Amino acid sequence: MKKIHYTEPWTKSVHFTILDVERLHSEVSPFQTIDFYRSDTFGTFFTLDGLMMVNEKDEFIYHDMISHVPMAVNPNIKRVLIIGGGDGGTAREIARYSGIEKIDMVEIDERVVRLSQKYLPLTAKTLDQDNRIHLFFEDGLAFVKNADKESYDLILVDSTDPIGPGEGLFTKAFYDNCYRALSNDGILINQHESPYFNEQKHEMIRAHAKIKDLFPIAEVYQFHQPTYPSGHWLFGFASKKFHPIKDHKMAAWEALNLKTNYYNSDIHKGAFMLPTYVKDALKNAR
Ligand code: SAM
Repeated sequence: MKKIHYTEPWTKSVHFTILDVERLHSEVSPFQTIDFYRSDTFGTFFTLDGLMMVNEKDEFIYHDMISHVPMAVNPNIKRVLIIGGGDGGTAREIARYSGIEKIDMVEIDERVVRLSQKYLPLTAKTLDQDNRIHLFFEDGLAFVKNADKESYDLILVDSTDPIGPGEGLFTKAFYDNCYRALSNDGILINQHESPYFNEQKHEMIRAHAKIKDLFPIAEVYQFHQPTYPSGHWLFGFASKKFHPIKDHKMAAWEALNLKTNYYNSDIHKGAFMLPTYVKDALKNAR
């Protein structure tokens, strides 16, 4: 198979390139262009509208940090809603908790799920192996709007960037509906972009301004995601009741003996210790 170079614009003047990759599949779904590749360095990976989503080499970082941080704050979480997450990695990590009773995954594009099941079993294999996982191929914005009050204990927004189908998942209306759909112990984790390049910093500030106006506890945590623009990536942690550090149930989480390759109890604390320039940008967000 012919080898090509994969290049992604991180900004107008900064590009990320992976040399000598094989393109495994390409198609245009009703929502986006989906391309699967294989690379010596990153294994199998896929992009949506030309942007890196998931690769075999560093997916464990993102899926550890979106899943285990909230689960180590509220070990009693039973009802989980994943918005997006078409590769299955977030559902895979959440399904490792035997106390969880329901995992609703709302992915707008069924083709992302079906292609991930074919080319990326590393992340997608759990999707049809666990009867707690229910797939809904629809817009997460509408799904949350119609969700019953206090019907979930954890909402994980594992979405694309706020462009295209993902744009609605960064709106006040969406966060309002997440707040209503969450129980009083509820936690919202959302894809919070990055503080480094202006393109993503602008979205980080916009999202934080909306969330901190809604939730009494609205924190942000960081992790190293080498294949996302700048490698410095963030999640938002919003809750009606639990603080991610003050209410960290470290002993209870460690007693579960879950093997993780990125998340651990030290990283749990450290991830919320943000650089001054990030703290300042978030403090002034409006
Ligand atoms: N980890 C990746 C990241 O941080 O960019 C994202 C994982 S996953 C591939 C993102 C998913 O969000 C995609 O499969 C996309 O189809 C889905 N998505 C985008 N907008 C959506 C919406 N409004 N409702 C539900 N799913 C959506």
